[in-house]
Amino acid sequence: MANLLWLQGGACSGNTMSFLNAEEPSACDLVTDFGINVLWHPSLGMELGDNLQQMLRDCISGKIKLDIFVFEGSVVQAPDGSGEWNRFAGRAMKDWVQELSDVSDFVVAIGDCATWGGIPATAPNPSESVGLQFLKRDHGGFLGRDFKSKAGLPVINIPGCPAHPDWVTQILVGVATGHAGDVTLDEFQRPKTFFQSFTQTGCTRNMHFAYKVSATEFGQRKGCLFYDLGCRGPMTHSPCNRILWNRQSSKTRAGMPCMGCTEPEFPFFDLAPGTVFKTQTVMGVPKDLPEGVDKKGYIKLTGAAKTAAPQWAEEDMFVV
Ligand code: SF4
Ligand code: SF4
Repeated sequence: MANLLWLQGGACSGNTMSFLNAEEPSACDLVTDFGINVLWHPSLGMELGDNLQQMLRDCISGKIKLDIFVFEGSVVQAPDGSGEWNRFAGRAMKDWVQELSDVSDFVVAIGDCATWGGIPATAPNPSESVGLQFLKRDHGGFLGRDFKSKAGLPVINIPGCPAHPDWVTQILVGVATGHAGDVTLDEFQRPKTFFQSFTQTGCTRNMHFAYKVSATEFGQRKGCLFYDLGCRGPMTHSPCNRILWNRQSSKTRAGMPCMGCTEPEFPFFDLAPGTVFKTQTVMGVPKDLPEGVDKKGYIKLTGAAKTAAPQWAEEDMFVV
C-alpha cells in the first residue's frame, strides 16, 4: 500500500481533469489493482477543515507515511515571497509544499505549471510563480537544484498542458509498485519512456512534411502544419502521436499544430496575436528548425522535397 497525497497550487485543475479521464490504467485501477491509497486529492478527498489540516500535519510529523506527493499547478510566491496569494488549509500553500516534499519518498510534478511554472510564470509573472524544481529552463525552481526526495530522486516531472492521463497513471503505478528505478529521467527530469521521441513520431502528416506540402488552415486533411501554422512537432518531446488522446486522436491528426506544451519554454513567443499559430521565419526559413537540422541542411532538403513532391501529396487525405 502506497500513500499518495495530491495538492493543487496555481492551477486551473486541467491536470486533475485529465487524470480523472485516465484509462490505461484508470484512476480507479490505481486504488483497486495497484495498492495506491489516495490520502487526499482536491476533487476526491473526503477530509475538510481541521481534519484535513491534521492529516497534513500527521504526514509532516511522520505519523502517516507519505510515499508519493503529487503537485499540480505553480508554486505561488507572491506577494514578496510570502506565498499569501495562494493560501490552503490555514497557511501559504508553498509552506505545505516545502514540508511535504521534505518527508515524501517521491515527489511528482504534474503539468507545465508544476514542472516549469507554465503560463502563470510567463512574464511579467505577477504571482511570482515557479515550478517545483525548474523555472522554465532554469534548474532550481521552488525546491532548489539539489533537492532529492527521501528515495533519493529529484522531482519527477510530467509536463503537458495538461499532461496526458496515461503518462500520469503509468508513472504513479511504476513508483508505487517499486519500479521507480526503471524510470529514467532526461535532463529536464521527464521520464524518458514518454519524452525521448518527438510529437512528430507517428504523426500522420509526416509524408506531407517530407514533401513540404503545407496545410494553410486548421483542420485541413492534407498538408503538414509546420510550414505555415507554427507546428512544433519536430522540436517537441512528447508521445502525443504514439499514445493517442482519448485513445484515438491527437492535435496534429485533428489539424491543429502542436504548441510544444511539454517543453520548458511553453508558451513560446510573447503570445501577441499572430505569433503562436504562424511559423516565424527569417528570409523564408523557419526560425526554429527540426531538432538536429541546420539552416543549410534545411534549405537543401526543402528544395529537393519540393521538386520531388508527387501529385497525390497535394490531394485531400483522411489523416485521422
Ligand atoms: S504536422 Fe507537425 S508533427 Fe506532423 S509532420 Fe508536420 S510538423 Fe511534424
Ligand atoms: S501535441 Fe504538442 S501541444 Fe498538443 S499535447 Fe502534445 S506536446 Fe502538447
